[in-house]
Parts: sequence; C-alpha cells; structure tokens
Amino acid sequence: MSISTGILTINLDAIASNWRFLSKLAASSEVAAVIKANAYSVGAKTVAENLFQAGCRSFFVTTLEEAFDIKSVLPESAEIYILGGVRNGDENVFEREKFIPVIFSVEMLRRWKKYAYQQGARLKTAIKVDTGMSRFGIQFEEFIAELESSATNDINLVLYISHLACADDNAYSLNKQQKEKFESLNKKVKSIYPNVKSSLANSSGIFLGSEWQFDLVRPGAALYGINPHSNLANPLRPAINLRLPVLQIKTIEMQATVGYSATASVNSGSRLAVVAGGYADGIHRTLGEKPQGYCCGQLVEAIGRVSMDTTIFDVSSVNASDEMILESGIEVIGDCITLDDLTRKNKSLGYEVLTSMGSRYRRIYVRKQ
Ligand SMILES: *Cc1c(COP(=O)(O)O)cnc(C)c1O
Repeated sequence: MSISTGILTINLDAIASNWRFLSKLAASSEVAAVIKANAYSVGAKTVAENLFQAGCRSFFVTTLEEAFDIKSVLPESAEIYILGGVRNGDENVFEREKFIPVIFSVEMLRRWKKYAYQQGARLKTAIKVDTGMSRFGIQFEEFIAELESSATNDINLVLYISHLACADDNAYSLNKQQKEKFESLNKKVKSIYPNVKSSLANSSGIFLGSEWQFDLVRPGAALYGINPHSNLANPLRPAINLRLPVLQIKTIEMQATVGYSATASVNSGSRLAVVAGGYADGIHRTLGEKPQGYCCGQLVEAIGRVSMDTTIFDVSSVNASDEMILESGIEVIGDCITLDDLTRKNKSLGYEVLTSMGSRYRRIYVRKQ
C-alpha cells in the first residue's frame, strides 16, 4: 500500500548517539531522557526502548498516561518520573506501578507523605523547587521550611530538581543566580536524605558547563537533534526527516487562483503539486507561513493557503517529469532544510517544530550510522 500521509523518518542511531554525546559531556552525572509529549512527537515507546539499550535508566514524562505508555516497553530497572506530580486519588497507582512523582507543591508533598505513612511504605519521591523561573515548583523558601520542620523518613527522596529559565544563552546572569540558589540547598537536603540526587540542567543547561550538571541531567530536545544553544553551532546529529507525498500534479492551462480564498494565482503553464499534509498535521507550526521543500533536488515553495489535509507547492521550476515528482515527494525537513534552518527562518523554536508534527504522519524508524 502506498503511503498517503506525511512520512516522518526517525533515525534511532542518531538519537542514541546524541544521548552518548551528552553522556560524555556530562561524564560525572547520570544522563536521563525526557520523553514527554510522545518523545517530542517522534514516538515515546520506541525512543524509550532505544535509549534503554543505549544505557539510559531514568525517563521523564509529564502525565500518568505517558508513563503507562513507556512502562509497557521498559524493563523493571528503568525509573519513570512523572513531571506532572501526583493528583489527589492517584497515589495508589503510583505506588503499585512504582512511578516516581515529581512533587511541585507543599500541599502535594504533604498529601503524598500522608499516603506513604498510612501505607507504611517509604515511597520513592522527587521534588521540584523553583529557583527563579516562577513556573511550577515548590517555592525555594517553602522547601527549606518544609525540610527543617519535618526531617522525617516517611518518604524516600531520591531526586530534587529545579529548572533553568534561560539555559540556551550563557550570557544570562539568571543562570548563575539559579545555580547558586540551587547549590545552597544541596548540603541541607543531603544531610537529611544522603542518597538524594540533585538535577538542574535540561539540554541547554548541560552545555553551560560541568558546574551546572550536578548528579543527574535531563535532556529532551538535544536527543532529537535540536540545537541546545541559540548562538553556537549545533554539535548534535539531526534525527528526523519529513517527506510529504505528492498526491496529484496538475499543469494549469489558463491563469487561475490557488487554494481557499483565492489568495494566490498562477499563470498558464504553471505546474502545481498537491501534497499530503495540512494544518491538521501542524504544517503552519512546523514549516511556518511559507512552507518550503526540496523536490527532486530543487527548492520549491508552497503557494496559496494551507488546507486541513493538503498543501499546494509550485513545482513549475522543477526539472523532472510528473512521474519523478510523484515518486520522490517533497522533502520538507532533512539534509537540505534542517530543523535549525526552519527555526531560524520562522523565528520559531525547534521544540515547537517537533511537537507540532502531526499524529497521523507515518512514523518510520531507521538505524543509520
Ligand atoms: C521538558 C523538560 C526538560 C527537558 O528540556 P529540554 O530543554 O527539552 O532538554 C527537563 N526538565 C524539565 C523539568 C522539563 O519539563
């Protein structure tokens, strides 16, 4: 059967090799993998299995559903952390499945402690502390007060984390401030929970230097090849390719308008290729307002409005037969147009480009050295 949706090809070797690269860079830390949002849309199960094989043992997701998804493919020795914490009533599920909640409020911490106490179980627990991003996280002062008031052993605190707000740019002084705040916690937390690990760095944070790496680092984006630094060359391997199949080619006989609301027009003799992939597949987000691609080795541009399922490219200038174009489709992310190129051109984020990849794209996993 031919494929009538976009084809997202994911190179598992590139993802594993990015993980190993980060392991060298953070040589004295454990390197976890953040595979929330379906591994930034490339497929959490496959990425989890692949990274476990590469040596990764700690995996972060956001929701309970995501945790179940990857648990089905991971051996017992993998630790699954849930960044969204534990909701009221889900405590028993976490205990049964050995999911580790990343607790982000005092209320949640007290509820979880109470549950652990009632069960007589020292449940593995992670805590997120806010050191300057003001997103979720226990307030720094609250955390200290909580530690001081209840130096109990009713939970097994295995990890405490914080998150950097500006890690992709080493010029920000906030990075240093956050690091110093985080460091000041270390001694206190470790005196109560000697085996606890500390973790501050996401992908970009790893590249700020070894002082930011602490006991565990939490890369997400870098695994998939997104440049961790806005102003430096990308040291990571690209891991994805997106090709949109051409569903129909038409040569226009008389000047005509193209697409909804007739926002563009073409002259007679123009050749148009209708490709599979529209706004329902996140094309606006992934490719920007003016999608470009490579067709038989030549740069082409979309014309007219993007529809829900399709986009029209002007292929008039392509020096190839209709058959050849139908055969090759249009490559919109790959060797010729990289994720970094798209991000630059559209002033968007590699994160947004990746996580907007449509759910109906056919995902194909390859291993290419
Ligand atoms: C998403 C997330 C990460 C991964 O961030 P990247 O920038 O993709 O490396 C790390 N830590 C937390 C708490 C996150 O929410």
